[in-house]
Amino acid sequence: MSFKELRLIEPILRALKAEGYENPTPVQEQAIPIVLKGRDLLACAQTGTGKTAAFSVPMLQLMEQDNRRGRRHIRSLILTPTRELAIQIGESISAYGRHTHLRHTVIFGGVSQHNQVNALKSGVDIIVATPGRLLDLMSQGFISLNKIEYFVLDEADRMLDMGFIHDVRKVLKQLPDRRQSLFFSATMPPVIQELADRILYKPLTVEVTPVSTTAEKIEQSVYHVVKKEKRALLLHLLKNEDIENALVFTRTKHGADKVAKVLSKAGISAEAIHGNKSQNARQRALGNFKKMKTRVLVATDIAARGIDVDTLSHVINFDLPNVPETYVHRIGRTGRAGASGIAISFCDAEEKAYLKSIRKLTDQAIPVVDDHPFPMSAATEEPQNNNRSSNGGQKRHHGGHSRHQGNNRRRKSNNRRRERN
Ligand code: AMP
Repeated sequence: MSFKELRLIEPILRALKAEGYENPTPVQEQAIPIVLKGRDLLACAQTGTGKTAAFSVPMLQLMEQDNRRGRRHIRSLILTPTRELAIQIGESISAYGRHTHLRHTVIFGGVSQHNQVNALKSGVDIIVATPGRLLDLMSQGFISLNKIEYFVLDEADRMLDMGFIHDVRKVLKQLPDRRQSLFFSATMPPVIQELADRILYKPLTVEVTPVSTTAEKIEQSVYHVVKKEKRALLLHLLKNEDIENALVFTRTKHGADKVAKVLSKAGISAEAIHGNKSQNARQRALGNFKKMKTRVLVATDIAARGIDVDTLSHVINFDLPNVPETYVHRIGRTGRAGASGIAISFCDAEEKAYLKSIRKLTDQAIPVVDDHPFPMSAATEEPQNNNRSSNGGQKRHHGGHSRHQGNNRRRKSNNRRRERN
């Protein structure tokens, strides 16, 4: 199937061609005709499937075909959970809509509202927004949603994870009843399904590659390593020049900073990106990484949400995530739009349970690499080469430490981790 067969108009076809898109991805192939028909859409699709174009291309087309003369007003709202995603969607709309007459702006927190307010005052047709700043500007009277014709809720499940669901509900109350709504979520837990039921009117459903199968095209491996030797192992791996660029995931902001520092000290260009950095610093780091000025970007999950680097050769899980779906999201960064990629994971003794859940979710046996300078002995869970550990190489989980206690402890530390992120 070609984009032309999807009955896209010439200005959009031309823009997609300039982007290098030859054929629609499965979610685009299914969603575009539904949206063009004016129907509501419920799409189960994650980042990396081409979902941004799946909602923005047909929406741009409908708006362009019904282009109003006179004063511009906000006709379309795209609500997305993070600043990075908002910026990225804004960039995609600039690209896909470059030959249309439509104007858009991006609204997100963490920066001065000045430029955003100026853009709104000069008149826009589309806003891409994160919930907090949107509500803020609405309460100040800079944004009114009463003429919205198109509403897109992007990454609904992530909104829930990030605690934005109340903000989303507040936004919904301000939308006119008569509108076309498009709902995107990677997963469909019951709360999300309820939210979709509230938003959508007789929706048509599109579902592409469930999260667990996305991982199949990515070459994965796991290195068992003692926690304190992870940095040395990372430095060792990065000696390999086949790793052109790598997105390294850590669990905490502090961890991200530390890893970036160690790499920079060793002469490897690296930057960290996380929620404590200013928006400008994050954009700069991301820009440097995209332009291949930095080889390694170290990120926490929330900061990395929406990072879209077309040619990412490696994803490295410095720390394994405790939520298995997060693993699939992370490694999916390297297999963008059908390309294959490589994902390497470090697993220390405490993370073995996480690895087990990941294997279960992906239904894949991730190959273990033993042939590296810092292997962890399976029996002792200590470095095999040297015994520098403080407990003299004793088994960490021996004695009366029951499995149940271990799980409780892990749960508590997971909660702490979540708070930190
Ligand atoms: P998304 O899921 O919207 O984040 O898109 C993932 C990546 O796929 C982005 O880098 C897009 O530029 C790219 N992409 C989207 N649609 C296509 C297409 N039809 N052909 C090639 N690349 C695409």
